[in-house]
Amino acid sequence: MPDNAALFLDFDGTLAEFANRPDAVVVAPGLADLLASLQAKLDGALAILSGRTLDELDNFLAPLSFPAAGNHGRDLRWSDGSVEPADIPDISLELERAEDFAASRPGVLVEKKAGAFALHYREAPHHEDAVRDFMQSLADIRDDMALMPNKMLFELKDAHSNKGAALHAHMERQPFVVRTPVFIGDDANDEPGIEAAQNAGGIGIKVGPGDSAARHRLDDVSAVHLWLRSAL
Ligand SMILES: [Mg+2]
Repeated sequence: MPDNAALFLDFDGTLAEFANRPDAVVVAPGLADLLASLQAKLDGALAILSGRTLDELDNFLAPLSFPAAGNHGRDLRWSDGSVEPADIPDISLELERAEDFAASRPGVLVEKKAGAFALHYREAPHHEDAVRDFMQSLADIRDDMALMPNKMLFELKDAHSNKGAALHAHMERQPFVVRTPVFIGDDANDEPGIEAAQNAGGIGIKVGPGDSAARHRLDDVSAVHLWLRSAL
């Protein structure tokens, strides 16, 4: 890692292993301490960019609270702890339809967020096509919303924010400005972040297999932890 790195980290599938349900994810012992040490070494330039809410990230990494982007870049928290929430689109009709859809398909789970929601099918993988078609039908009638595929889930989110925009927003502020961005992530939502880091002369790292614009790769969550430790 460059000495002057600004480190941007995805959470699920990058820092923490997946679990069957999003609330069942367990953080490896020592992860918060590792991140705190890295943050200190990088003069504070470490941020978590996640699809989760800021509150969820804080619960997983307690007692620490990092600069972050929650909800795929919609909610930005700067290094002074102040939060810049985005406008929250009204998706109540879509959410109601999704709850009806899930109610008749055991194992399909609705995860509500502010102005977004995800349909998970990890416990019912045979419903993948039905979930995709249903969520696409919702996205098709909303110009302001986009369908985002993720691992064993599809999410309906606002069309404009993403992790690349979140990386840029942080890079315009202290302590990130003039440092070299390094982005690590594992899935399709991370590609805008990977591309933003590389386009800014930095480093994009893809975790695991699959297509990616990243020029570097780490095998899995354990490899990410090892690589981060080696940078201390
Ligand atoms: Mg991830």
